[in-house]
Amino acid sequence: EDNAAKPPLTVRLAGPRGFCAGVDRAIKIVEEALRRFGPPVYVRHEVVHNRFVVESLEAKGAVFVEELDEVPQRDHRPQVPVVFSAHGVPKSVLADAEARGLYQLDATCPLVTKVHREAEKHFAQGRHLILIGHAGHPEVVGTMGQLPPGGVTLVESVDDARTVSVPEGVPLAYITQTTLSVDDTAEIIAALRERFPAIEGPRREDICYATTNRQAAVKAIAPGADMVIVIGAPNSSNSLRLVEVAARAGCPRAVMVQRAAELDLEALSGVSVLGLTAGASAPEQLVEELIEHLRTRFSVTVEEVRVAEEDIVFRLPAALASA
Ligand code: SF4
Repeated sequence: EDNAAKPPLTVRLAGPRGFCAGVDRAIKIVEEALRRFGPPVYVRHEVVHNRFVVESLEAKGAVFVEELDEVPQRDHRPQVPVVFSAHGVPKSVLADAEARGLYQLDATCPLVTKVHREAEKHFAQGRHLILIGHAGHPEVVGTMGQLPPGGVTLVESVDDARTVSVPEGVPLAYITQTTLSVDDTAEIIAALRERFPAIEGPRREDICYATTNRQAAVKAIAPGADMVIVIGAPNSSNSLRLVEVAARAGCPRAVMVQRAAELDLEALSGVSVLGLTAGASAPEQLVEELIEHLRTRFSVTVEEVRVAEEDIVFRLPAALASA
């Protein structure tokens, strides 16, 4: 093909983008479990919110279930292995797995576990907890499930923060989901502090380094871009936030795409600067795939805009880390 005939397209690639340390660890846990126990290894919930990752693990022998009653209690092995997803699980699920005699491998991100322990600490100190997060997200379900029913009140918005009712005369503390919008969360916290000046909280919030860095990077590439593409999944909280942040940072068109094939190149006519990023659960391979797809139509120049360096690596659970 004649490259000169293709219209030019500058791809502004956000850095950091894609896999975080928690997602990387969760995938390694499933792979290592498959190596040690052989298939099938059961995984409760999508280990990370990405179809491509899930399908690659399925091809190696992982079996994804939503609830533990879908896992057989016995097979050819002394114990049937089950992995809990990076988002974390309520305590009741651990107890249920124990009662079923399953071999538990917990892929909960250590940064989510840290929030779980904060919740327990506040509860032990007699505080009522407010969790800032999105109803129904597995991380929220898992975090609320660290405390007995009624111990946590969910707040999703500034409006909720202004109107939520909490037990009278009980000291309060807040914690947050790890993958929220940094800016929205700051407003929600401000609204809570205005109503409850004595509320305790983490030094900043519980939004993780990966979420913070990916939002800062998309903010850096969005202004002046004709379009921003976020590679991610509709059930991935951090990916959805990246689309919102890009739009608010001034990009007229911010869209989510799961795989390159979904992107209709006709929709790019008139685009000369394209911002590109990927959510924390999207592998770099999908970014490369998308750029290759763009090259079929455009003469592509890639420039990376890097706002932070990341060198965080989380160790595997002790049961898998040894030799
Ligand atoms: Fe952990 Fe943050 Fe990655 Fe979630 S997005 S798995 S909290 S590092």
